[in-house]
Amino acid sequence: MSDDLEASIMNSLVDMPFATVDIEDDCGITDVPQINLKKSQEKEWNRKNEIKKIKRKLKGYQPNYFLSIPITNKEITSGIKTLQNEIIQQDGRLARAMVGVGALHVTVLVMQLLNKEEVSAGIDALWELKPSVEEILQGQRWPLPFQGIGTFGNQVAFVQLAEGEHVQTLLEIAEAAKRTFQQKGILAGESRSFRPHLTFMKLSKARGLHKQGVKKIDPNLYEKFTDHRFGEEVLHRIDLCSMLKKKQSTGYYHCESSIVIGEEPPGIQSLINEALCRERMRLKAKVKQIKELLLQPETQAKIRRELLEGALAHGPPAAALAQRP
Ligand code: C5P
Repeated sequence: MSDDLEASIMNSLVDMPFATVDIEDDCGITDVPQINLKKSQEKEWNRKNEIKKIKRKLKGYQPNYFLSIPITNKEITSGIKTLQNEIIQQDGRLARAMVGVGALHVTVLVMQLLNKEEVSAGIDALWELKPSVEEILQGQRWPLPFQGIGTFGNQVAFVQLAEGEHVQTLLEIAEAAKRTFQQKGILAGESRSFRPHLTFMKLSKARGLHKQGVKKIDPNLYEKFTDHRFGEEVLHRIDLCSMLKKKQSTGYYHCESSIVIGEEPPGIQSLINEALCRERMRLKAKVKQIKELLLQPETQAKIRRELLEGALAHGPPAAALAQRP
């Protein structure tokens, strides 16, 4: 293997989940002039061995799960539907390449979960991620604005995330997610850098298009939308989704678990707590009313009178008791 090839493999693997090797250390970059030959040979042998191991693992890495931010804002979905229809009107063959609006999402992380145990570890990792995400968001509302169109190699077309502070926030979330899942021993991540986007069309979805001469997505097809503002999606949920399992009736992916960020919708326990709190307040108000009533001179006189009448009916010791102030 040439040094260039080896260097490019190492570069592309640095980001992969299983790249546990400390590259810098293993490359033996050092300022010390006297190189111990035996030691450096050993390091070189270790480095080559690690590359072999990583390549072996890489061969089996095929992501089948992903972390998704679902798109729920109707303004965005209807804007994308209009865009898709506009494209289909120009070239009907592209209908099959469109992503259903129910499936629209931003991918945060891809991973491989091969069995029930790994899926369960994935769910645990997602729940571990929740406090980290909340820390990154600092209790603030994070609207993600979508504007304009981009493509990956003219094969995948997406609505772009507009520029702004939220981009950095999403990058931090993606980094935290990768760390959390990898720490659980899950193969997660990609060699390419994270580019948040909202895919609405993929040529790979429509088999046969290539043979029909559709090799690229023509930018003229979406020309009218290049600056279009599609709306904002407030980041409120992250789902662990399967790429391969049957989709839900809504068109969205099969979810193994979800975390809700920030405000939780009221669960049964919070409804019970609310009802108990209301009841406690009602009782407190009643007790206060009774106390006030008891302190009124006319109430006290009435009570004394009734006690006296009762005591007289029952004999002298009770009467003495009733006459006490
Ligand atoms: O993540 P999403 O489902 O939107 O990805 C749609 C397609 O875009 C996938 O086929 C993915 O491989 C591709 N993609 C890409 N370059 C990226 C991110 C995604 O080609 N940086």
